[in-house]
Amino acid sequence: MKEIYLDNNATTKVDEAVFEEMRPYFCELYGNPSSMHFFGGQVQNKIDEARKRVAKLLGSLPEEIIFTSCGTESDNAAIRSALEVFPEKRHIITTRVEHPAVLTLCRNLAKRGYRVTELSVDGEGRLDLGELRKVIDNDTAIVSVMYANNETGVIFPVEEVGAIVKEKGALFHTDAVQAVGKIPMDMSKSTIDMLALSGHKLHAPKGVGAMYLRKGVSFRPFMVGGHQERSRRSGTENSASIIALGKACELAGQFMLDENTRVKAMRDRLEKEILARIPSVRVNGCQAERLPNTLSIAFEFVEGEGILLLLNEKGICASSGSACTSGSLEPSHVLRAMGVPFTCAHGSIRFSLSRFNTDEEIDLVIRELPPVITRLREMSPFGRDLLSSH
Ligand SMILES: *Cc1c(COP(=O)(O)O)cnc(C)c1O
Repeated sequence: MKEIYLDNNATTKVDEAVFEEMRPYFCELYGNPSSMHFFGGQVQNKIDEARKRVAKLLGSLPEEIIFTSCGTESDNAAIRSALEVFPEKRHIITTRVEHPAVLTLCRNLAKRGYRVTELSVDGEGRLDLGELRKVIDNDTAIVSVMYANNETGVIFPVEEVGAIVKEKGALFHTDAVQAVGKIPMDMSKSTIDMLALSGHKLHAPKGVGAMYLRKGVSFRPFMVGGHQERSRRSGTENSASIIALGKACELAGQFMLDENTRVKAMRDRLEKEILARIPSVRVNGCQAERLPNTLSIAFEFVEGEGILLLLNEKGICASSGSACTSGSLEPSHVLRAMGVPFTCAHGSIRFSLSRFNTDEEIDLVIRELPPVITRLREMSPFGRDLLSSH
């Protein structure tokens, strides 16, 4: 059975061109980029090129890019650094809908005596900037607000957040793991001090990421040791993966228009057809600005797990939200923060597309999904009432 992969916010396929770019750096060009000889030097040159490619996608300077092992490391390094830069400041601001890479860290820091404010969102997943203005003070070291949410695709007004943060002299970090490569950004005109991205969310391999660190912003490294990454992230470079990330960023730039036209049109069609064919459905965050590839959709009176299992039998891979929290029967913290009713939060699934999806795949999902929902509703008492009223 050929898979129909609609779980690209969990991870993505490595683009063949990305794989070709990294391939020589395992068995042939395996030198240590820090070595004095030509053999390591050619790897260093290629890493320099990768840094420029990542910087170009972000609109930053190459020296503002630090390669890391993943998005989680980039998030952790940024937040921990800010707390060390301002040891006298004890307040952290984040949101209730962050990825666990930020939220778990902040909650752990709260247990260690930091004051942590988690900003709330409205029913559409939108942030309340008034709340941010109210809670930020001179004790705030760092504000960490994601660029776009992994479950709903809702995009946050990060530049406005950053402007508020600047007034109070705190640092502003954004987890942009889902946004980088999907929507254009320009750090040269931005209020963002630190930003996290991850390779495997944009068609590079797993186990590589990067952080953007604005020139002039103080930084205390998370990993210390050798002088790699100008001593901002020690450890021998994962050269093949870094080179892959560079190529993936170059391609993401080239496909940015495609993502926001063809991929978005496929997502919009999927959404429109589901709403037209299935009763009692709501799109989570539909009134908010959203990523072009993400559709989080709630089917009343069915269990998301049930939908996923039946879709799985058809080869369709979707998600019940965050892969990191699945396995528990708790509805996602993101949907709960949005106040999505329990009956809907349980029946929410996420389709996340990529440039490798086709119209034929979307047609198939549109065909297969309605009978799946009907079958599940027939099995639940509330679902049967619903079906008989239509
Ligand atoms: C996937 C993801 C992460 C974690 O990235 P890893 O590279 O898997 O550590 C962090 N934040 C968001 C929003 C994500 O979607």
